[in-house]
Formats: sequence, structure tokens, C-alpha cells
Amino acid sequence: MTAPQQNTVVAIDGPSGSGKSTVSREAARRLGWHLLDTGSVYRALAWYGLRRGADLADRDAVVALLPDFFAAWELSVDPDERWVRVDGVDVTAAIRETAISEVVSHVATNLRVREAVNERFRELLFGDDAPGIIAEGRDITTVVAPDAPVRILLTADESARIRRRLAEKAGEDAAAVAASVAARDARDGTVVNFTTAADGVVELDTTNLDLEQSIAAVIDLIRTGSPR
Ligand code: C5P
Repeated sequence: MTAPQQNTVVAIDGPSGSGKSTVSREAARRLGWHLLDTGSVYRALAWYGLRRGADLADRDAVVALLPDFFAAWELSVDPDERWVRVDGVDVTAAIRETAISEVVSHVATNLRVREAVNERFRELLFGDDAPGIIAEGRDITTVVAPDAPVRILLTADESARIRRRLAEKAGEDAAAVAASVAARDARDGTVVNFTTAADGVVELDTTNLDLEQSIAAVIDLIRTGSPR
């Protein structure tokens, strides 16, 4: 009897505005693969905690919410169908609001939350039924899937990252967006390193690449293990 074919797991990390979400989703779509947007889980948990009236800075209180949260949470891994649901409520747009971005680090810097969430990620990644799956986040290359055959750190200099965030948040104050991006990265950086590539992780600097070039470079890395 032959062993079942294992799916390919590709890990992509990077800071806010590095382009990792858009690039990962489009690369997954073109490859006919699945996508695991890990940030959406931390965001959904923050949304759920607020709805339940929890103090997100209270680590024990957030850990206590986890069983109910996992029972209520659903996430699409189809790159063409972007949705997150909690208790049957579609929270896809709500979790991307600035109000959630401002508080998500409280749950993401809770180490017991990370442990539990990472277990879920591994179950999803290794039990997935597509030929491959791209997981994108902050600690996928180092903690969640350090044995993935392709691991990429997507970077871009700060001004490029702020420019990209501003393009998404049309009409918002530039200085406020810049401050919020920097503050969130600083908070998140206290528990995971997503600014320097770990051993064996390929750094792809997208500062001077447009979206199409970034997607092509990631697909090349996946196919050949080296950038064009
Ligand atoms: O990528 P995105 O901006 O949606 O991530 C939202 C938040 O989720 C990050 O600011 C960080 O606090 C958390 N996160 C994390 N580890 C991951 C992915 C996201 O801590 N692997």
C-alpha cells in the first residue's frame, strides 16, 4: 500500500503592509491551492472577546474564552472565498476595522493563546485536502511550520509599507496610519520576530516590486526554491 500523498505547506511571514496577505492569497489562487490567513484568527478572537465583554488585556480571561471561541469560529481556506464567521455571524469586514487592529495585539501577545491557536493552525495545515496550502502570518516560518519546504519572509521598507496601508485605508489620516502600523508591529514584535529571516528562510524584499512582480517572485520561489 502506498502512503497518502502529503500536501505541500508554504510558510510566509512579514510585518504589516509587506504585502503578504494580498500576495499570498493571489499566489494560492494561481496555484490552485488553499490559503490560511492566520492573522484573521487573532482578529476574530479579539472581536469575540469584545463581544463577550472580556478585558482583552486579562490573559486568563482570554484563555478561558478559547473553547467557546473555537467552537464558534469558522474560516474559509479557499482563496476565492474570503470569509470568517463567529457564531454564524460573518465578521470578515468587521475584524479588519481599525478598532480591532488597535486591540488585536493584546490577544496575540498572550502566549497561552498563541500555543492553542498554533495547534489549530497545524491541524488545519497538515490535514488540508488541497495539493498545497500557503499559511501567512508572523511566526509561520519559525514556530507554526518551521519544517515547511518553502519558507519566505516578505519585507518592505517602512515608507513602502505605510504607503500600501494608506492605499487600503483611503481617506484616513496618513500620520495616524503610519503611527498605528508602527505601534502594532512594535507590540507584536515583543513575542515574535518577523523582521529578520531565520536560518533557511528566504527574505524577499518587495520595496521596489509591484504587486504582480511580488506574486511572480513568490510563485517562482515555491516552484524552484529560488527567486528570479
Ligand atoms: O496579518 P494581520 O494584520 O491580519 O494580523 C493581525 C494581528 O494578528 C497582528 O497584528 C498580530 O498581532 C497577530 N498575528 C500574530 N501571529 C500571526 C498572525 C497574526 O501574532 N501568525
